[in-house]
Amino acid sequence: MGNLLDGKKILVMGVANKRSIAWGCASQLEKQGATVIYTYQNERMKKSVKRLVDDENLLIECDVATDESMDKAFTEIKERFGKLDGIVHAIAYANKEELDGDVQNTSREGYAVAQNISSYSLLAVARYGKEILNDPASIVTLTYFGSERAIPNYNVMGVAKAALEANVRYLARDMGQYGVRVNAISAGAVKTLAVTGVKDHSSLLSESESRTVDGNSVTTTEIGGACAFLMSDLATGVVGDTIYVDKGVHLI
Ligand code: NAD
Repeated sequence: MGNLLDGKKILVMGVANKRSIAWGCASQLEKQGATVIYTYQNERMKKSVKRLVDDENLLIECDVATDESMDKAFTEIKERFGKLDGIVHAIAYANKEELDGDVQNTSREGYAVAQNISSYSLLAVARYGKEILNDPASIVTLTYFGSERAIPNYNVMGVAKAALEANVRYLARDMGQYGVRVNAISAGAVKTLAVTGVKDHSSLLSESESRTVDGNSVTTTEIGGACAFLMSDLATGVVGDTIYVDKGVHLI
């Protein structure tokens, strides 16, 4: 039996370190035979990504906050790697002071930052990606249950995740004609760099763990497994959906 993703080239955006969900995805994609190309946010991130990825040629800088950086990155990806079969978007950011207390205190600027990096960036990725994606191809983003329920301190990020999930549905409609499927994975809480920005994140993590069906948090390997499935030709019928990979937290 061959691997699920033999011959596929997939771009993974959002590895910060070995705890990153993006790294769990990349590892599973590689395990299934894909060649993985990585974008990192800035020089600081490059250092930690280099500790995980031996081949520096597979690393490209991309700050999704600006069109200039995205333009440069996707031009470089096209030149170096040609067509791709998939993109994993595992990127989110909000200013730390917005992930604390009452949501009505969210600043106008903080709201815009969270939306820009965590939600709008998926539209931009799809727009740039369209030029270099094969038909068929798959885009997968990462969301969280805080889009649907008011989770303490998650606040502006929950609002951004709700927008991200709406982006998935609209993109799925408009990218379908190019053979690109777009889906989201709603992952359970895992201790990553991003989560430590949420005030009292240890309560969020322990509360989440206590609500899983077996009392154990989902792992980034399990999330990566679902990502590999969504990238594969086994998932050609899954379009515009949000799939929970949270060990049942959303239903308990
Ligand atoms: P992480 O900190 O490992 O990854 C977040 C990544 O976003 C980092 O690599 C960071 O460099 C990148 N990023 C932030 N701003 C950027 C910018 N301007 N340009 C380019 N990259 C930028 O944390 P993670 O938890 O693995 O987060 C990955 C995704 O998973 C996020 O969308 C997050 O919301 C989502 N998610 C996380 C959890 C969780 O509990 N950790 C649960 C569900 C969904």
